[in-house]
Amino acid sequence: MKIGFIGLGIMGKPMAKNLLKAGYPLVVYDINPVSVKELAAAGAEAASSAKEVAQKVEVVITMLPNSPHVKSAVLGPNGVLEGAKPGMIIVDMSSIMPLVAKEVSAKAAEKGVEMLDAPVSGGEPKAIDGILSIMVGGKKEVLEKCKEFLGKMGTSVVLCGDIGAGNVTKLANQIIVALNIAAMSEALVLGAKAGVNPETIYKAIRGGLAGSTVLDAKAPMVLNGNFKPGFRIELHIKDLANAIETAHEVGVPLPLTSQVMEIMQALKVNGKAGDDHGGIIQYYETLAKHEVRGS
Ligand code: NAD
Repeated sequence: MKIGFIGLGIMGKPMAKNLLKAGYPLVVYDINPVSVKELAAAGAEAASSAKEVAQKVEVVITMLPNSPHVKSAVLGPNGVLEGAKPGMIIVDMSSIMPLVAKEVSAKAAEKGVEMLDAPVSGGEPKAIDGILSIMVGGKKEVLEKCKEFLGKMGTSVVLCGDIGAGNVTKLANQIIVALNIAAMSEALVLGAKAGVNPETIYKAIRGGLAGSTVLDAKAPMVLNGNFKPGFRIELHIKDLANAIETAHEVGVPLPLTSQVMEIMQALKVNGKAGDDHGGIIQYYETLAKHEVRGS
């Protein structure tokens, strides 16, 4: 099966490389030519537009920042649908608005093109190791055709419902991750300023009920003052904005998510939008006038 891959950023690059390693012929495109060159050096065929990718493959994967990028790459001029043949499948693995996934899928269907929304969780390390969690929305029979190559990028592939359900699930995931990082930050700053070594706190609690994948991924980073992304605060702001908009449309208030959103907005104003989302701790450190590093 010949696969196209559009969007070769922090996540897309290692995901595409895993497909190459698994032996899939790959045609790639990104608006950043440096990333395209890197994948071409690893064995992929370089294309000069999303349309050209679609002309050459049976399946197109997109891994782009947000809804407008997916709309532009799929529906826009020189986009995927201009090059697509009936029967082609689009697998959008970006985290976008569920409504936009439905909208793009409806346009694709007019050309006889199927679509899955299949956002992921796990971040760059799990993308590199090919062990992402993939949350899928769409038709079961379409997923069946894609399961084999999705399995080269992730170990968990769960069909969550119709198109859009993958992104609803991802929004739930992003709320849980954001609130966990905020809780961890609040707790570690308290512990450190109260005079207990924060690394000891982490070691003492990680095996108990407060332990979590988020704690294990982010505590070592924040304790080292490492805010290199990973997952940028600006992308998490995008996800929480999508979560709040979606929640309000269906009549669900998100009081805690809104608070963490404002914490992230404050960090953005302070020039931290490009930091890893573990950088949320810097907000608490400023409030408490105490840094966990070296405490
Ligand atoms: P990124 O900004 O590193 O990469 C996005 C890539 O898309 C860039 O290379 C950019 O040049 C390219 N691009 C943008 N518009 C384009 C267009 N119209 N045509 C072709 N290429 C285009 O972002 P990322 O961290 O790789 O995240 C991608 C998606 O995955 C986002 O929706 C993000 O929320 C989600 N995600 C990220 C992580 C993470 O830890 N970074 C984890 C899970 C999910």
